[in-house]
Amino acid sequence: MLRFVFQGHYYHLGLHYLLVLYYALKPAIPQTARFALRYCYALPLRWIFRGSWPIRKTSQGAPKGWPGWPNGHSFAFVLTHDVESRKGLDRCRAVAELEMRLGFRSSFNFVPEGEYETPAALRLFLAEHGFEVGVHDLRHDGTLYRSAETFENDARRINRYLKEWNAVGFRSAFMRHNLRWLQKLNVLYDASTFDHDPFEPQPDGVHTIFPFAVSRSDGSTYVELPYTLPQDSTLFLVLREAGNELWKRKLDWVAAHGGMALVIVHPDYMALDATAGSAEYPAEFYEDFLKYVRKRYGSKAWFALPRDVAEYARRRMRLPLSPTAPSSAVTVRGPGHQA
Ligand SMILES: [Zn+2]
Repeated sequence: MLRFVFQGHYYHLGLHYLLVLYYALKPAIPQTARFALRYCYALPLRWIFRGSWPIRKTSQGAPKGWPGWPNGHSFAFVLTHDVESRKGLDRCRAVAELEMRLGFRSSFNFVPEGEYETPAALRLFLAEHGFEVGVHDLRHDGTLYRSAETFENDARRINRYLKEWNAVGFRSAFMRHNLRWLQKLNVLYDASTFDHDPFEPQPDGVHTIFPFAVSRSDGSTYVELPYTLPQDSTLFLVLREAGNELWKRKLDWVAAHGGMALVIVHPDYMALDATAGSAEYPAEFYEDFLKYVRKRYGSKAWFALPRDVAEYARRRMRLPLSPTAPSSAVTVRGPGHQA
C-alpha cells in the first residue's frame, strides 16, 4: 500500500508542473478536450486510490468536543454550486427552481471578475427565495495563488465583492487552497478544501467529514467547510460514471458517521432541458439524488446552507469572529490537516 502512496506522490509532483503549463494553455483548449485530458490522468489515479476513494475511513471521526447537529439531526446535508461561465449563469434560476420544487435550498458561488457579470437581479432572486450567494475565486484563471503578494492584492478585491454581495463564504477555483493566506479574506467560512479527492490538482485532503476552525493571527477564526461528496464534474465528466451511485454510497457513509455531506454541483455542466452535450450530464442524475436524500433522510438530515453550518459551528464551538483580520500566523485545527 505504501508503495502506491509514493507512486501517487510522484505522480502528483509531475502533474504540478504539467498543470502550470495547463493553466497557461487552458483558454485555448476546448472544454471537451480538457475533460478528455483529465480522464487520461484520472484513470491511473483511480486505480492507485481504489481502496480509499471515495470513502476514506480514517476521515470519519468527529473532532474533539464536537457538539452534534442541531435539533437532534444525525448529520448535515449541504448543497453548493460554482458558476464557472456564462452558460452556468444562464442556468442558475432553473437549477434553483428545480431545488425549490423538491424542497431544497443551496448556495451559488459566482466569479466576480471572470467571463460573465453577475446580475444584481439574480442575486436578489436567490436571496429572496432563501438561497445563499458566495464568492468563487476572483478571475477563475488559476492565478489566485501565484504569490503571497498578488494574493493579498486580490484578497482586497475579493473582500470588496463579499461586502457588496452581502456574502460570507468563499471558494477558490480548482479547489486550490492555502488556509494561511485565506485568513486575509473577511469571511465566516471558506469552502476550498475536501476530505479526500485525489483527482484535484492540489490533492491534499483535510481528511475529515466535519467542519473545522482555522484561527487567524489576531485571535479571530473562520470556519472551513470541506466538500465530502465527489464533485459532479469529477464523477460524470472526468470519470464518466453512468449514474449517481457513488454519490449515494458516499452520502450513506457520511450519514452513518454523523458528518457533513457537502456536495458541489456546477450548473454549467447540467443539461436541464435537452440531451446532454459532450461536456454535460443529464439533470436526472441530480434530481434523482435529491429525491433519494429526501426520501431516505427527510427527518434525519439537517438541510442547511453553508453559512448556517458555519455559524452553528462557530457558536457551538465558541469561535471568536472578527470582520478584519489579516496577518501572518495561523493555526489550523482540522483533524489530519497539516498547515
Ligand atoms: Zn470553479
